[in-house]
Amino acid sequence: MNFVDEVLISVSGGKGGDGCLSFRREKYISKGGPNGGDGGEGGSVYLESTSDINTLVDFRFKKKFKAKNGVAGAGKERTGAKGVDLVIEVPIGTIVVNQSTGEIIYDLDGPSQKVLVAKGGKGGLGNTRFKSSKNQAPRIFTPGDWGDARDLKLELKCIADVGLVGFPNAGKSTLISMISDAKPKIAAYPFTTLSPVLGVVRGIDDHSFVVADIPGLIEGASDGTGLGIKFLKHIERTKLLIQLIDIAPSDEAQNPLSAFKSISHELSSYAESVALKPRWIVFSKSDLMPAAEANKLARSVIKKIGWTDPWYLVSSASRDGLEDLVKNISIYLNKELSD
Ligand code: GDP
Ligand code: MG
Repeated sequence: MNFVDEVLISVSGGKGGDGCLSFRREKYISKGGPNGGDGGEGGSVYLESTSDINTLVDFRFKKKFKAKNGVAGAGKERTGAKGVDLVIEVPIGTIVVNQSTGEIIYDLDGPSQKVLVAKGGKGGLGNTRFKSSKNQAPRIFTPGDWGDARDLKLELKCIADVGLVGFPNAGKSTLISMISDAKPKIAAYPFTTLSPVLGVVRGIDDHSFVVADIPGLIEGASDGTGLGIKFLKHIERTKLLIQLIDIAPSDEAQNPLSAFKSISHELSSYAESVALKPRWIVFSKSDLMPAAEANKLARSVIKKIGWTDPWYLVSSASRDGLEDLVKNISIYLNKELSD
């Protein structure tokens, strides 16, 4: 099974144009000298990061990329045209790995970073180049070189400020759709439930932040069970994790306390760095029970686990608590920025 956050592609630079074998042919000049021009260089392939796209999903359908060949040289010492470069746009946060060595070649962690991944071949030399006092009429020319060819793996670790984790059905997608203008563009793909959805949230003082809905985290994810592990990658770079816990799950096995424990276990088994990230608990779906009861339940869980960091009780259905949550995330992130 393939995932949109990891794709294999191959790139190749264009072949250089061949050098030209040609001699001057003019009326009344019996022996014209060589005049074959050089071939043009092949086009190169570049990757460029852009904020216009935020997934690697397009690469599921197109995987081979080749820049244009250089044009062969011509008579009258005309150099062939250079092959047109190919610039492939990738989302910000794309990591470029050499497939054969596993080595990370580039980490495109900011906008408009453009890197060369396959250089075009050099153009060949025309016979004019080989003219010497000994050889006035060289019949030698060289072909253009082949362009570089490389197999690459692109990995996307999304750069979101806040990562949303929790069991399936905890209400992550709903929450993100309520607090952000999440780009529904991604919903058109058949992989929606497997791809992180990014949402831009307007916080206080015109500061906005990005929330990533990271679906698919299930028990055993860090052992490679299920889909979770792939998506844990996406949370490595966030500044804050929101752990969403359904306060009224239909499945008793996912009661708030065990939901908290399972997800926490997954996070710490994955990586120390993730477990140590600042994390807030958000109990969801408070509208499913009387307010007092929801409050009491949430407090008892907090007490049992000895939680001292911030926690919230919200409902995406009634919007209760959402404004407060967004405001506090925003304050927290702004503070992070200025520290
Ligand atoms: P996800 O799997 O974590 O993304 O969860 P979803 O956002 O898809 O929500 C799972 C189910 O819970 C859906 O049927 C939602 O309509 C429902 N749901 C989400 N948030 C709330 C809420 O605040 N209140 C109620 N009553 N239902 C909710
Ligand atoms: Mg979802």
